[in-house]
Amino acid sequence: VSFVDVLVAGGGPAGLAAARAAALAGRSVLVLDDEDGPSGSGLTLWPNALVALRTLGLAEAVMAAGQVADGMLMSRPDGRSLQQVSAERMAEACHGNGIGLTREALLRELVAGLPAGVERRRERLLDLTQDEAGVQVRTTGGEYRAAVVVGADGARSRVRELLLPQDGLRRLGMRVVRGTSRLRLGTPAAEVSMGRGLQFGIFGLPDGVYWFAAYPARRTPAGTARVSGADALRTAGELFGGWHEPIPQLMASTADSHVLVHDVVDRRPPAAVWGRGRVTLAGDAAHLAAPTMGQGTCHALEDAVALGNALARGLEPRYLRAYEAARTPRSAAMVRRSHLAAVSGQWANPLVCGLRDLAMRSTPAGAQTRQLRAMFEVGAADLLLA
Ligand SMILES: Cc1cc2nc3c(=O)[nH]c(=O)nc-3n(C[C@H](O)[C@H](O)[C@H](O)COP(=O)(O)OP(=O)(O)OC[C@H]3O[C@@H](n4cnc5c(N)ncnc54)[C@H](O)[C@@H]3O)c2cc1C
Repeated sequence: VSFVDVLVAGGGPAGLAAARAAALAGRSVLVLDDEDGPSGSGLTLWPNALVALRTLGLAEAVMAAGQVADGMLMSRPDGRSLQQVSAERMAEACHGNGIGLTREALLRELVAGLPAGVERRRERLLDLTQDEAGVQVRTTGGEYRAAVVVGADGARSRVRELLLPQDGLRRLGMRVVRGTSRLRLGTPAAEVSMGRGLQFGIFGLPDGVYWFAAYPARRTPAGTARVSGADALRTAGELFGGWHEPIPQLMASTADSHVLVHDVVDRRPPAAVWGRGRVTLAGDAAHLAAPTMGQGTCHALEDAVALGNALARGLEPRYLRAYEAARTPRSAAMVRRSHLAAVSGQWANPLVCGLRDLAMRSTPAGAQTRQLRAMFEVGAADLLLA
C-alpha cells in the first residue's frame, strides 16, 4: 500500500486542475483515470474560467490552444438579432470573452501543466473507507492510502455514490448534439439561436467551428442502447435545416464521427457541504449542471483553485469543509440558472416564445451586464483566496 497526501479520482478538467493546484500547494498527488484517451467535443471557457486558469498559471497555454470569441450574440432562427454584446463590452464588463477549444486541447494543456512528481495511473477507483487518519482506496490496480481523496470522477461519480447515494440524476427531457466542423468562419461571435423548443449554438475553434443543437429528447429507438451520431445528425438536419446560415452548412460539413449526443441530466443544487471526513468532490461530481450556460468545466477549474488554497492550509477535514463552503453558493446558483435555462429552452408555445424574444430584445444594456457579471465574475471568497 503506497501513501499519498492527495489521491484524485478522475483525470478530466476537475481532476487535472485539482492535481496541479494540490501539487502547487506542496502536496504529493496521485491521479487515477482509466479512460482510453481524450474524447469529447468543443467547449467554451468563459471569463471566470480564465481567472481560475490565471491563478493556476495556465491561462496563456490554454488561450493559445483556443479561439477567442468576438462577443456574444443571441439570434432568432431566421438570423435576426435578439441580443448582442460586443467583444469590447464583454471585456469591459467581465474582463474577457469566451474561448472556444476542444476538450482534447484543454486536457492536453492540463496534463502538460502537471508539475513533475504528480503521478498518474490508469486505474479506476472502486471503493473507499476512511478512519480518522486517512482514507483507504481500492482500485482496479491495487490499494492506496491517502490523507485526502478528491472525487473528480464526473457526472456518474463513484466517489459521490459512496458519499451521497441518495442524490440521483434528474433527466431534463433535452437532447444535445455537438459537432465539430472544419468550416472556417473567421472570428465568429459566440452565437446561440433560439427557436420554439430548439436551440443552436455556434462557437469558433482555432481550426474550425463547434456547434450544438438542442431539441426535445425522444425515446431511444427500440433495441438500441443509445442514439448514434449519424441518427442525431440526421434529426438535427431535419429540425434545423431551414435555420439561418451557416447552420445548415455547418451540419452538412460535419462527419458522423465528429458528433456526440447527450441527453441532458443534472442534480439538485449542492447543499452546504458535499464531502465527508477526508473525502471531497470537485467538478461535475460535486455540482452537475445542465450544459445550457456552458459553465461545467469553468466551475471545475474554479473548484481546483479553491481546493488548492484549502490544501495549502492543511489536510484535515476542516479544510475540505472550508473549500466546500466557499464553493457551494456559487455552484448552487450555477446549477439553478442552468436548470432554468434548460426548462425555458424547451418552451415551444408561440406566445410564450414571442414574449421571451421580446424580453430579450428589450433588456437594457445595464441589465445585460449585470446578468453576465453574475455568471462570469468570480470573487476572492469563491476561490478561497480571502
Ligand atoms: C452537451 C454538453 C456541453 C457542454 N459544454 C460546456 C461548455 O461549453 N463549457 C463548459 O465549461 N462546460 C461544458 N460542459 C460541461 C463539461 O463537460 C463538464 O462540466 C466537465 O467535463 C466536468 O469536468 P469533470 O472533470 O468534473 O468531469 P469529466 O469531464 O466527466 O471527467 C471525469 C473523469 O473521471 C474519470 N472517471 C470516472 N469514474 C472514475 C473512477 N471511478 N475512477 C477514476 N476515474 C474515473 C472519467 O474517465 C473522466 O475522465 C458541457 C457538457 C455537456 C454534456
